[in-house]
Amino acid sequence: MAKQRSSSVQSLMEGLSALSRNLWWAWHTNAQSIFRELSPQVWERTNHNASWLMADISEKELRARLGDAEFAARVTSVLDEFDAYMKNTKTWAAANAKGLKKPVAYFSAEFGLHESVRIYSGGLGILAGDHTKSASDLGVPFYGISLFYREGYFEQRISVDGWQQEQYLSIDMNRQPTDLVVDAQGNPIVCSVQIGFSTVNFVARRLRVGRSTILLLDTNLPENEERYRSITAHVYGGDSTTRIAQEIVLGIGGVRMLRAMGVTPAVYHMNEGHSAFLTLELLRENIAKGLPKEKAMKAVIDECIFTTHTPVPAGHDRFSNDLMRFVFEHQVRQYGMTVDELIHFGKEHAGNPNDIFCMTVLAMKMSRSANGVSELHGHVSREMWQHLYPKAKSVDAVPIGHITNGIHVESWVSERTNAFWSAKLGPDWNKHFTEPKYWKKALDPKNISDEELWALRYNLRRQLIEFARHRLHEQHARYGNGTAAYDTILDPNALTICFARRFATYKRAPLIFTHFEKILSVFNAMERPVQVIFAGKAHPRDDEGKKFIQRIIEITKHPNLFGKVIFLENYDMNLARYLVSGADVWLNNPRRPLEASGTSGQKVGINGGMNCSIMDGWWREGYDGKNGWSIGGDEQPADAHVQDTQDSQFLYEVLSQQVIPEFYDRDANGIPRAWIKRMRHAIATLVPEYSTHRMVAEYVKKYYTA
Ligand SMILES: *Cc1c(COP(=O)(O)O)cnc(C)c1O
Repeated sequence: MAKQRSSSVQSLMEGLSALSRNLWWAWHTNAQSIFRELSPQVWERTNHNASWLMADISEKELRARLGDAEFAARVTSVLDEFDAYMKNTKTWAAANAKGLKKPVAYFSAEFGLHESVRIYSGGLGILAGDHTKSASDLGVPFYGISLFYREGYFEQRISVDGWQQEQYLSIDMNRQPTDLVVDAQGNPIVCSVQIGFSTVNFVARRLRVGRSTILLLDTNLPENEERYRSITAHVYGGDSTTRIAQEIVLGIGGVRMLRAMGVTPAVYHMNEGHSAFLTLELLRENIAKGLPKEKAMKAVIDECIFTTHTPVPAGHDRFSNDLMRFVFEHQVRQYGMTVDELIHFGKEHAGNPNDIFCMTVLAMKMSRSANGVSELHGHVSREMWQHLYPKAKSVDAVPIGHITNGIHVESWVSERTNAFWSAKLGPDWNKHFTEPKYWKKALDPKNISDEELWALRYNLRRQLIEFARHRLHEQHARYGNGTAAYDTILDPNALTICFARRFATYKRAPLIFTHFEKILSVFNAMERPVQVIFAGKAHPRDDEGKKFIQRIIEITKHPNLFGKVIFLENYDMNLARYLVSGADVWLNNPRRPLEASGTSGQKVGINGGMNCSIMDGWWREGYDGKNGWSIGGDEQPADAHVQDTQDSQFLYEVLSQQVIPEFYDRDANGIPRAWIKRMRHAIATLVPEYSTHRMVAEYVKKYYTA
């Protein structure tokens, strides 16, 4: 008897340890709650890092905790669910992607999987992470390739005078859920790339994300020259020399690591141009096999696809002739080219002597297909790159398509909302959220009342506000200021607008304050209070973005706005989850058409929040007149100044004439019926469509198996 019990505790301990090393737990709240309960304090301190938590708990303590029969039963149930997930063979892909026998190799400079794995900076990474999780859920064989950023992306602190400070924290290797990739003998697989005169070695650290695998390449090895050991230290770190080195490791190194592991991908998917050097490595292989150059190139093109995310010409990665010469001089012959020919190949305008090598051009020329990330962005990309396709007689004939981005719904539903849907619709709601029909029925007022939905919204808003108070309290304690004022700011009954994203200037964070006196009176209407929560990081070298942050911080101190306009430090996936669930309205006001897709607005849908956005990116196709609000329409003045003035007026009008009145239009029970009707419609129309389940299925059908 005693023996059996100890062996079962043993197997639960092993199971928990394995679970902590697979990020499957990051989108299963029942698994998270087990880790959190093991030690709420370590869970908070480590930014919810399950493998760190497991490393910090002694075997003795774990044994004792698992001695509790009720707790052990919950652990068993989660482990069973995890097991069933990993072994499930009846996946979407098994039925719908029979042509995909080999894995997709998905290259991305960043992956946003969870706040505890700090290898992402913003939207591009989150998209890659959500893509990875949906590939796993759908059963699409998937390898992600990226870099192991030892110090990740920076942590944002705001100084007393409102200026962004960047802090880099070293990641403790033993506390990340990664394993070193080893060969059959158990020795680390070491590969190398050539950078200039130097050979740079690297290893791969494997991150498990459900059934998907991500390989994180790491050059921090003692045998490398010091300057090459730090190539992979920071996400988009350093100058262009560091960047090109990172991109050599990512692209060329990524292919070499896959080869060394014996992985043969069905397709190479470049998520943005950073990894486009992978096409040169494939070219080298084909030429080494004896193929003539034309055929070798054709074979590369047949295996590669490319997704572009940047509608601004200046936003595309480019490298100077000198840098290209330095890096490639000693290996370019293997591509059947000279350095000049290579540089020429990557030029946007072949005839222009001032033009330099552009990664997007390389990616487009070396891919069988290219796509933008929303309908409008597809169109903008066709216009932007028409000159690369001389055979295309019109913009519409340019062979760049689009697949609109989505989100991994289970990663963005808050724990509370998840419990709400599970209680109201059953725990298998997560198997049905892509079915519009399911929501139609589920959201029938006979099934869920307005009162219940409104109570959910209140609780989510309240939860965000308490989190915000806590954060601001801590921040002002750090300054040595009085903190008591921050314990009562924000009103849990007030209309709560959130604006959180990178502080790139085209996103125009301060737009809402353009007509300052007018907005001041809106915010201070006694009967209909409004509050706004801001968050976001500016790129470390973007002083204009930092000035926007500073301006918002200034405004938060205005005597008539104090406690109603706030800025929260260090926007990450954790803060994002609070914001996208607590927001009544998610505000998005970029300068059109610069928001290629945007995804944060998609995250509010499942939590009952609504979008108020410029008709750009995904919202231009998501908005149907009744599922949120548009700021202006399809007009797009070429002059940025004119656009800003016009849009600030539209924003003021939609808020004061539509959003605020509808939120405060209450019946005798205090319920905003029209608002909730809109909310139901938003969930039913947006959740099924703007998920990465839909998106990955589209990639499979349109691009991976085509
Ligand atoms: C979703 C998300 C983003 C991307 O948001 P956009 O709307 O595309 O700007 C960036 N950062 C974090 C932390 C996110 O969660």
